[in-house]
Amino acid sequence: MTEEVRRCTRCILPENYPNIDFDENGVCRVCREHDQKYSNIDWDARRKKLEKILDRYRGKGAKYDVLVPFSGGKDSTYTLWVLRNRYGMRCLAFNFDNGFLDPGALAFAKKSAAKLGVDLITYTPDFDLLKKVYKRAIETTGEFCAACVVLIPTAIFRAADTQGIRFIAAGFSDMLEAPPPETSYMDRVYFRNMMKGAIPMDELKWDYFFPSWKRMFKVKQINLPDYIEWDLPFIYDTLNRELDFGKSMADVRYDCLGTPHSSFLFRTRIGFGKYEYLYANMVRSGVISREEALKTVDEREPKSAPEGFDEFLASMGCDRSILDGIEEKSVSNFRGRNSTMRRLAIKLREILP
Ligand SMILES: [Zn+2]
Repeated sequence: MTEEVRRCTRCILPENYPNIDFDENGVCRVCREHDQKYSNIDWDARRKKLEKILDRYRGKGAKYDVLVPFSGGKDSTYTLWVLRNRYGMRCLAFNFDNGFLDPGALAFAKKSAAKLGVDLITYTPDFDLLKKVYKRAIETTGEFCAACVVLIPTAIFRAADTQGIRFIAAGFSDMLEAPPPETSYMDRVYFRNMMKGAIPMDELKWDYFFPSWKRMFKVKQINLPDYIEWDLPFIYDTLNRELDFGKSMADVRYDCLGTPHSSFLFRTRIGFGKYEYLYANMVRSGVISREEALKTVDEREPKSAPEGFDEFLASMGCDRSILDGIEEKSVSNFRGRNSTMRRLAIKLREILP
């Protein structure tokens, strides 16, 4: 695989990545955009801005100042550690189980929450409903993650809202984790159209849709990696020293046991895998070398159906017939929010308290 495809000389994105082009040095569009976006960040100013935000919410909630989405992975664990230990915030850790959560990740989440002295809640939606949503998403778009992209942010918001918490701080890093918008963009208008006729909206209302814009805007959401430099060697060091994290940077894992299957489906549909763009992100950000990334992709990227693929599909009531014509399936076959509305919604979320 790695021999035949032309790849960016800096990250590893392949030539069949959507709208890619390479400059005279063979560097791809995504790398060039990355440099523009991240090269001149004033981290000192960002940190001050963060401290201002934290001051606004510290001591304000009844019991908690902030809800921290907490998978037990490095980013969310470090977010919790920083907010609790460096900034003295009263945190509620929120763990979400999509039915495919690695039991090891949950065990670690429990252990570290206890060590940090924070309360932890886990929300596990009824799998019968999840199953129907996954099935519909896979059958119509070929994309397993389409369901969680909508479900998880809603669950996080609902958890904060029901606890009366007005501030959410997550460890999601746009730079390292964001899927290519060209292949994975999803919003609630798409989602509604995708589910129409398959599942009654009433069943989906709580877990998949926000109550109202007005109510949502009362909750401020930030991602900590937007405000402090995400220095991964330091993060691993801290977590290993203070929380027995027991992992190194070379040991990147995803907490969802569906990831290899999801990547295989993606690869069958688009022509390259999810690990490829995730590792490309890491190379671009200097976390691992290009050689390491190519080697890891070669080892982990499933070129044929991964072990347990049939069981994975069966757990959602599907079988391999979903692979028929998968190249034609896409989220964009459904009508979504128009792009102006989408941009406006994102901007508003950034500005409002
Ligand atoms: Zn590149």
